[in-house]
Amino acid sequence: MRIIVNGKEAGTKEKGCALCGATWGEYYEEIDNEKLFFCCDFCALEFTNMIKEVKKRNNWDRIDDLEINGNYYTGRTCTAKRQGKEYKFYVKFDDEGGIGTFKELN
Ligand SMILES: [Zn+2]
Repeated sequence: MRIIVNGKEAGTKEKGCALCGATWGEYYEEIDNEKLFFCCDFCALEFTNMIKEVKKRNNWDRIDDLEINGNYYTGRTCTAKRQGKEYKFYVKFDDEGGIGTFKELN
């Protein structure tokens, strides 16, 4: 999965956390057979919940490309792609790392 967080490639220790772009921390989670870097387990949990929701709503087995813009406080506006299809959404997480708000965008 190609991940862009606020305009910068992310998902490895060098590039930054797959959800927030931070380069501190040392947490990895395997998602769709890919080892992704996160700054902490909380970001990993939020990311996993977000991916699950997108896959469920689209009936996708995985995501090829994911663009994330925003942060924890403002919520995030994202574009996910799978095999040429594009899906835009807004997501804000709750205090437990679950989906607080989820809106499909056009
Ligand atoms: Zn993070």
